[in-house]
Amino acid sequence: MPEAPRADGAAAVPDVDVVTAGGRRRIPAHSSVLGSASPVLERILQRRMQKIRDSGKPGRAVVRIRGVTDDVAAAFVRLLYAGRDGGNEESEMEEELESHAEQALVLAHAYGVPWLKRRCQEAIGSRLTPATVVDALQLAALCDAPELHLRCMRLLAKEFRAVERTEAWRFLRDNDPWQELEILRHLHDADMRRRRWRRKRAEQGTYMELSDAMDCLQHICTEGCTEVGPVGQAPAKSPCPGYATTCRGIQLLIRHFSRCHARATCPRCQRMWQLLRLHAALCGSLPDGHCNTPLCTQFKRKEQQKEAEKAGDGDGDGRWGLLVKKVKAVRVMASLGKRRSPTQC
Ligand SMILES: [Zn+2]
Ligand SMILES: [Zn+2]
Ligand SMILES: [Zn+2]
Repeated sequence: MPEAPRADGAAAVPDVDVVTAGGRRRIPAHSSVLGSASPVLERILQRRMQKIRDSGKPGRAVVRIRGVTDDVAAAFVRLLYAGRDGGNEESEMEEELESHAEQALVLAHAYGVPWLKRRCQEAIGSRLTPATVVDALQLAALCDAPELHLRCMRLLAKEFRAVERTEAWRFLRDNDPWQELEILRHLHDADMRRRRWRRKRAEQGTYMELSDAMDCLQHICTEGCTEVGPVGQAPAKSPCPGYATTCRGIQLLIRHFSRCHARATCPRCQRMWQLLRLHAALCGSLPDGHCNTPLCTQFKRKEQQKEAEKAGDGDGDGRWGLLVKKVKAVRVMASLGKRRSPTQC
């Protein structure tokens, strides 16, 4: 039995007997240690101690730990002693958790010992396999153990094919279809969340590319770059830092657009139209209103007409408006980033 320290350095005399299921084993313990570790044990011990005091007879209070084997009950008491000083007896604790983490989790939940619950969840979670995950998941539900539940669901999502082949999963499927359905629903939800996140990330990438294209278009139409520049002005000869990634592609598009005879149906010209229209939508927020970008004024006027019509009949260009908003948001975020680290056009 571990010893409870006293203020004078000597070990205190045990005043509690922890009795295991069936009364086969009595483990001497200290009410101060058990009571401080568990509020449930504290309440039980207060009642038992009061009874002893009222009877006027000497003796130790008795606490019964039911529902587990003698070894597990003894291990639980040792764990409460090992954890009382915040991890002074770490190796002993590791040893007990190695052998009895599952049953210790049940006791830690029943007797309200949060730190032990956490340690048990870590120990069980660290050795999860496809063969043990179904039982661990049920244990997590029984003991209200969210960290363990999360680790189980992660493993299920990652290795579901292997889990499906285990005896535990077959037993669950045959005997608890509701639980099976709940797990499958959870996996489906997690998969949907992952897909949504990937889609959102891809969308953000597209908005970022459009934002870069807007910067480039403005750069070509104000300073010019290598071969393309504003009307009546020689373009800057040296390529900008973003020439290879964005600027060259925009320049090729502009040159094609200026020569193409099938703009109404040509996909490349349609793309250029969209870039020019997007520029006009974003350019509207500039304070001086002057702009070198081709068709900017015409697009602005057209948008104003559309706005007026929209106000009249209540109909709007929802998807386009949303695209403009998203690119604007990306540009705001990018400009905040650039304030910290200046980069190319
Ligand atoms: Zn450039
Ligand atoms: Zn074309
Ligand atoms: Zn403009």
